[in-house]
Amino acid sequence: MAKCEEGYLCSVCDGDVEHIHESDLYLRYVIGQVDPETLHTTRERHIRCNPSLAQFIVDLDFEPVLIDGPFDKRQLDMDYVREQERLVTRGWRRLKELAHLEGVSLLDYPLPEVRERMRAS
Ligand SMILES: [Zn+2]
Repeated sequence: MAKCEEGYLCSVCDGDVEHIHESDLYLRYVIGQVDPETLHTTRERHIRCNPSLAQFIVDLDFEPVLIDGPFDKRQLDMDYVREQERLVTRGWRRLKELAHLEGVSLLDYPLPEVRERMRAS
């Protein structure tokens, strides 16, 4: 889903994934969990429809997501949780930033350390 395109439906709730900062696929891409090659073949989802990842976004502009069950971050290792929160929150802020930028190449979407890794491989 490029900014200029639309019509990608969430595989969980069937709703439109209208904005890039609502996109679980792009969030996972910018934090290095989805390869550029598989970006276009992976199903789209809202960030909020993937609570096990969304719970790690800690930002005043993001209504917190809490889950119950084994993947609840309150039951996970604190160091791991802090690390995930740092990464996923930065990824989400990157998406918000991208929503306002023009002409950024898809390969430049990810966070700097992820781009670095992509270049090295
Ligand atoms: Zn959804």
